Amino acid sequence: MRWHGAASPSRVRGAGLCLQGIFAGPSQRCPATEYNMASQLHALLGMSQAKPNLAVVALPEPYQEIEPRPLLAAELSQASVTFGLGESAVAALSETTLRIPDGEFLALVGPSGCGKSTILRLVSGLVQPSSGAVIVGGREVAAKALRLGMAFQNPTMLPWLTIEQNVMLPLKIVQPFRAQFHKEKRGGFRDKVHALLAQVGLQGFAGKYPWQLSGGMLQRANLCRALIHEPRMLLLDEPFGALDQFTREELWAILQELWLAHRPTVLLVTHDLREAGFLASRICVMSARPGRIIDDSSVEFARPRSIAMTFEPEFVALNQRLRELIVDARSARATTGSA
Ligand code: ADP
Ligand code: MG
Repeated sequence: MRWHGAASPSRVRGAGLCLQGIFAGPSQRCPATEYNMASQLHALLGMSQAKPNLAVVALPEPYQEIEPRPLLAAELSQASVTFGLGESAVAALSETTLRIPDGEFLALVGPSGCGKSTILRLVSGLVQPSSGAVIVGGREVAAKALRLGMAFQNPTMLPWLTIEQNVMLPLKIVQPFRAQFHKEKRGGFRDKVHALLAQVGLQGFAGKYPWQLSGGMLQRANLCRALIHEPRMLLLDEPFGALDQFTREELWAILQELWLAHRPTVLLVTHDLREAGFLASRICVMSARPGRIIDDSSVEFARPRSIAMTFEPEFVALNQRLRELIVDARSARATTGSA
């Protein structure tokens, strides 16, 4: 199977969904609902009944490269964010410098309210930095339409659409797929959606409605929707936070397989330190609000990683170290009263 909508780099350059333009102009204020809806549009813009540690079948072809990929997927240079003005101003993120190489799997961990989601919003262009600069895909973030995939704790499927239709949404919106989609070539896209659904163990569920699926299955479908339009970058904000531990672990394995197969750059915000250690190639720990990165370490465990690995002494030691950093950051907040 080929990806549809192939086009020359010049035709494709600048294509993709410019959510900043149509939905949430880069704004200092972006309430959670707007952010969540924006995410859906951004992907319109989002994976998951698998068996534990499912052996994932390779998709027929890897992502098609439509532009040369810059070495740095995203870069924050002394970027800070303050929401609001005057007495009601909230300093959400201290001046932060962060370079994210293309294809990296970066996890952001830290106390609640320290600015993790703010970093994702900066990278997505939903929020602009109050100072400093944010460069994504080699250009200033608001300067160019970005092809991003996003998934959050709440899968927010559209209830009147089937799973297949929900997963297809980004293809209806995001170029270069949109043009093909509207030329009634959706048959080929159906194969693509079914291949991805099968990859996350949802074969046979394409025609079901969201209410017919469990939370874990919906989150798998959500991940499919985040990836269907072949985004270079995947922004995941506590995507498995609402799931039970066993379902969560199944989804870690699926996400790892997908990342190994497609190598998008992933920014994962999570409170679960095992999740960060299992999935990430690098973990940044943030201080309490206004957040800054207080620890930046690479995670060298061999891939593919297994759940059993998370009980080995080296992994437990990493977990313990991260935990201590966060406990210290939380108690520093308690003494300064900054939250
Ligand atoms: P987290 O690390 O929990 O993801 P966030 O990045 O969502 O934290 O938020 C960082 C801080 O900024 C929090 O104190 C939050 O209340 C505040 N904040 C986030 N968005 C806004 C907004 N639109 N207006 C005002 N304050 C905000
Ligand atoms: Mg958050």
